[in-house]
Parts: sequence; C-alpha cells; structure tokens
Amino acid sequence: MIKIDKRSEQLYCDNCDSLVGYEIIEKKEVYNLRGDLIEINSYVAKCKTCNSELFEPYLENENLKQLYRKYAKKHNLILPEDIKSMREKYDVSQTLFAIILGIGEATIERYESGSLPSESISNLIKSAENPLFFSRMLENNKSKLTKTDYERIKKNIEEIKDFNVNYLSTLEQVYLQTTNSKDLNFQKLYEVVAELFNAIKKLGINFLYKTKFVKLLWLIESSYYDTFGEKLTGLDFAHLPYGPVPERHYILLEIMKEAKIINIEEVDDEPDKAYTILYPNDLSYAKFLEVSEQDFIKQIVGKYGSLNAKELTELTHNDLRWINTKDGELISLEIKE
Ligand SMILES: [Zn+2]
Repeated sequence: MIKIDKRSEQLYCDNCDSLVGYEIIEKKEVYNLRGDLIEINSYVAKCKTCNSELFEPYLENENLKQLYRKYAKKHNLILPEDIKSMREKYDVSQTLFAIILGIGEATIERYESGSLPSESISNLIKSAENPLFFSRMLENNKSKLTKTDYERIKKNIEEIKDFNVNYLSTLEQVYLQTTNSKDLNFQKLYEVVAELFNAIKKLGINFLYKTKFVKLLWLIESSYYDTFGEKLTGLDFAHLPYGPVPERHYILLEIMKEAKIINIEEVDDEPDKAYTILYPNDLSYAKFLEVSEQDFIKQIVGKYGSLNAKELTELTHNDLRWINTKDGELISLEIKE
C-alpha cells in the first residue's frame, strides 16, 4: 500500500526518451548517514513502458526527510514538530527564534522542513525549552531585535516561566551539551575563578574586563598543563582573533554569576563601545583548592595580572597553540610540533 500521492501524471524517461506513465513503488534502501547505516522504505518512480527508475525530485525529497527523521529519532536529535511547538509556546517566528538562539537566520526554517541539525545545535534548541535559558538568550541577542519584538517575547516568557527550575544546574548541563568541554569540572572552575579574583585583589585591582579575565583563565589553564601535564578545570578554549577564549563564554559567565562568584555589569553608554566588567562576589570557593593549586594561581596572576589587554593579547599570540590553530578552531593544550 503506497501512502504517497503522485505530483504529476507523467515523467520524463531517459530510456524511452519521452514523457511516460509511471507507478510509485516502495523499496528498502540503506543509506550511510554521518557514519551510521539507516534503512528506509524509499519511494521510487518506475516507467510503465520500460520499467526503469525515473528521477522525481519530490520523491527524492520525501525519502531524504524520512531518512533524516529516522536518524534524528535514533540519535535523540530534536524533531521538526518539537521545534514548531516550542516556537508556538513562545509565539516567535522561525527567523526570530533563530536570531534569539544566535544561529543562522534561515536554519530554523530548514530544520522544520526536515533538514538535520548537528548534535550541538539540536541540544541548543532543546535547551530553549527552558524559559529561563530562553530568556537569557533573548537578553544576549536583544540588540538584534526590534524593541517591539523584544518586549513582546519577554512578556511571553515571563508568563510561562517555571520558577522551580534549578537554573544553575540547567545552565551547567546546557554548557556541557553544547560545547566540547566534556571534561569540565564546574566545582574546580568556581574555585579557580574565586582564587583568580583573590589574587587580582592583592594587586590592588577591584574588577576585570571580560577580555582580560578570559586571558588570565587561559594563562592559568595552559600554564598548569605545561607544568603538571594535566588539566586543571578541563575548560576548552577556541581560537578567536584576539586570543584563546572559552567556548560559549557568555553562558559560562552567566553560570559563574549564578554560582554567585562574580557580578556582571554591561556598559554600553557609548555606541560601538560595549564592554563587560566582572566584579568579585562570593570568593569562598577558593578555600577548597589545594594549597599548591592556590599558590600556582597566585603565581600566574602575580606574573600577568598587571598587564593590560593589549599586552596580554601579544603574549597569547606568541603561544604556539594559538599560532598553529585557525579562527574558530578548538585549541588543544598539547603543543604539537
Ligand atoms: Zn521508460
């Protein structure tokens, strides 16, 4: 029993060299998709005159959709109808939803019509199910929305917010699922950041610009690896033009804020001069570090903490790990010759 309708009465047959009548049959086919073998019942058009298979774009597309759907279910990727119902919940268009999530404007439209998202994009979209997370993404991408859209969506989120959600642990999960930092030890990261701010205070500095903060984090993590041959926090960094930066660092900052280690202030009183300032909050996490770890962080911060952002950028630009990677690539802590 064929569950698909014909889109036209006749198709062109190469073999007969004319328009011919055809029938649609079902045929088991195995596809290799992202290294996984997936079997589907493909729809195939067959010439009624010579019995050869005919090209029918509509059927090809239906087969692909079927294949992607089967793969998505098997690998627990988000399905088109789940994205649609999530959008309806927040009452946002496909384009706005993509903008808020910080992904390509046309991508949501493609996923809803059956294209297959990557695992990390799928996890990102799934996280948006949580109103607290979606609300944070809305704030992050506020500048790309009109005021009317922003306020309307904000109001929608407020109305469905579930206040029982443990925001910190949700954010931690989201971070692990949407980045390559699978070995990240959040507890250790909180301790290291708290000690970083303790040490910076000793230099008479009361706050850090985000750019300087991420550079100091890199210097601690990479120097620790160089000295002891193992990772301190397990945080992964990506190659950005001005130096190594933790993946999805804006979520990471939000996590540290939720953990009460830092406060964040966004300063944007001049156009094109927005910057983020981090203030220490509760630094008691630092006491859980080993004395040797505390001493190590003090030493690194003591050595580099007084340098300005430009000097720190020059320093990281001389690191072989930075030199040997390209824009956007993950930086391995190992130095490869
Ligand atoms: Zn034919």
